Amino acid sequence: MIPSRAASAAPNPAPEGSAANESPARSPKPAFGSKPRKRPKPSPEAVARRWATQLERKRPGLMSFVLDRLGEINGRPVWQHRLEPTSELILTILTANSADINAEVAFGALRNRYPSAPTPQGASLEPRHFPGWGGVGLPDLPGPDWQAVEAAPIEELTDVIRPGGLANQKAPRIQAALRALSANGGYSLEFLRDMEPLAARDWLAAIPGIGKKTASVVLMFSFGTPLMPVDRHIFRVADRIGLVPPKSDADQAHDFFLAMLSPDRMYETHVLLIEHGRRTCHAQRPDCEHCPLAARCRLFTRNAE
Ligand code: SF4
Repeated sequence: MIPSRAASAAPNPAPEGSAANESPARSPKPAFGSKPRKRPKPSPEAVARRWATQLERKRPGLMSFVLDRLGEINGRPVWQHRLEPTSELILTILTANSADINAEVAFGALRNRYPSAPTPQGASLEPRHFPGWGGVGLPDLPGPDWQAVEAAPIEELTDVIRPGGLANQKAPRIQAALRALSANGGYSLEFLRDMEPLAARDWLAAIPGIGKKTASVVLMFSFGTPLMPVDRHIFRVADRIGLVPPKSDADQAHDFFLAMLSPDRMYETHVLLIEHGRRTCHAQRPDCEHCPLAARCRLFTRNAE
């Protein structure tokens, strides 16, 4: 269940003098012969902070090196508003395991089949392309009528989004997400703009079928919220260079990046790494010979500093 909007927006500090504000009592020494109590597992955020400190000690300046080298070649990306957040959410669901260009065709089909408003007179139909996006871009037009998308017969919706790929899985996911939003106050996600980044991410990730990556994409691209979405390209590059611990996964990498980056560098990091993964550090046969990061990449040089 996703948390109610009011509860999410208002933190609820414990009243002064309550038990929650008192310093924790020392745990008594275990009786002789009894098993010592297990230490509580550190939180993912604590693990990530430890990793960031350790990486900086063992391989100083690695993250800055990566961003500076990629920035010299591609320029430093500057955030621009892309789509309103509900459109961003549905577009991101459409991109899952599909090429961005196919997802944008499916999103255009949604707009045509379930229009929320007539195309404004004089509106440009030229696609707007954004850094880090693999398709040709989308025109700046009103989003679909979300109520109509939610209420559409599932077979019909599946047919409409079929050009995007995996339509049988994505149509129910889209309707489930819209159902969760409408049951919780409406389709607009504008209220997330004013929430703390991690609270907003958790709110979105409580919607069935939405994970950290999708939630971070929506918040970063719609509002410029300092979060770091980690997709398969970014994770592959980070894993090869050694920016994330061996044997970690893309989901955990979200926490590692948040611990390693200052908020003002998250958008730039997302765009530069995703483009590097697409152009140079391919899944099969990465072009290491022409890679500006090779000197510090652990896949290219095993013990690279
Ligand atoms: S050196 Fe090769 S593996 Fe390493 S980041 Fe560059 S392209 Fe990827």
